[in-house]
Amino acid sequence: MSADVPFLDLRPSRRQIAAELEAAHARVLASGRFLLGPELERFEAEFAAYCGTRHCVGVGSGFSAIELALRAAGVGRGDEAIVPAYAPVATWLAVARAGATPVGVDVDADTYNIDPARIGAALTERSAAIVPVHLRGEPAAMDAIGRVAAASGLVVIEDAAQAHGATHRRRRVGGVGAAGAFSFYPSKNLGGIGDGGAVVTDDAELAERVRTLRNYGMRGRNEIAEPGVNSRLAEPQAAALRVMLPRLDAWNRSRAELAAHYAEALAGHRAVALPVVPEWAQPVWHLYVVGLADRDAAAAALAARGVGTLVHYPCLPHRTGPYRERWPAGSFPVAERLARHCLSLPLYPQLDEAACARVAATLLETVEPAASA
Ligand SMILES: *Cc1c(COP(=O)(O)O)cnc(C)c1O
Repeated sequence: MSADVPFLDLRPSRRQIAAELEAAHARVLASGRFLLGPELERFEAEFAAYCGTRHCVGVGSGFSAIELALRAAGVGRGDEAIVPAYAPVATWLAVARAGATPVGVDVDADTYNIDPARIGAALTERSAAIVPVHLRGEPAAMDAIGRVAAASGLVVIEDAAQAHGATHRRRRVGGVGAAGAFSFYPSKNLGGIGDGGAVVTDDAELAERVRTLRNYGMRGRNEIAEPGVNSRLAEPQAAALRVMLPRLDAWNRSRAELAAHYAEALAGHRAVALPVVPEWAQPVWHLYVVGLADRDAAAAALAARGVGTLVHYPCLPHRTGPYRERWPAGSFPVAERLARHCLSLPLYPQLDEAACARVAATLLETVEPAASA
């Protein structure tokens, strides 16, 4: 009997680099510098180089990265920002936190990403920004989004929290729009050992403003340039991320191999809708999401056979707290359909191919009992 397959296990990746992590933390402890110190400065330089941008500013979370990138780009009270309907609630709330109003736009049924053709209808004279999410690690349609933004004078702030290393026409995401926001939440492709985030950009002024905003808006020790927040990427976290960053490409390659494995094992089965990747996108497979007619039954059957799955996202932002009045059920039919039918399968770099094959076989048994009998 083969072992259970958890949806995610973060221990193996951290175990691989345990000695280096311990050395990095010993270095921080010995330095006596715990915030805004040399580890952060080096990580920012290294991550900017990785993303192919001139600047990187470490912040406290992905949520903060979106909020502060928007504020630094001049988006705030009275403004509207276009966001995909299919997104984690964090994206919408970060826009609200910046003072702006999130305005949902439905997504493309194949890629799950914002549908650029639907953005025009959502624009008003208050529209100031588009915040595309590179969902599941798959780049959004940045060419078309860029054209809409340019035609209407909107700034594009990428939510790249699931897409560290993904490329759009060979350019790393985060560096395609005016700025990119990353999260280093532990389960992300580049995930720390606690909270963390970063804004990357080529715009020196925008970077400087994020740098100021993350530390109360302080310029120097006495002057408050504008009211900011407390959102700093701590030294132990930056030191840990510096250990992991050199592994990111290899980890992303493992994810891609496992995704190819799933695709091969599940291809040709009409009961399972597979991810669709446009030719200009090289995804990093933060999640491997399939579409199933009776998703809840499949998830329960997989759980009964020891396979962990998750739903991203059972509750869409427009149907939560402050947004449900403006956006009744049915407002975004594609996103709502995906939310009912999608299921995320186990996928992390240290998962082995045998486990992956077992997940695929178990899934096929549950959705096609007759065919596999
Ligand atoms: C994780 C995530 C966020 C929020 O990041 P935190 O670090 O948890 O604040 C925002 N957007 C997307 C797409 C994410 O996946």
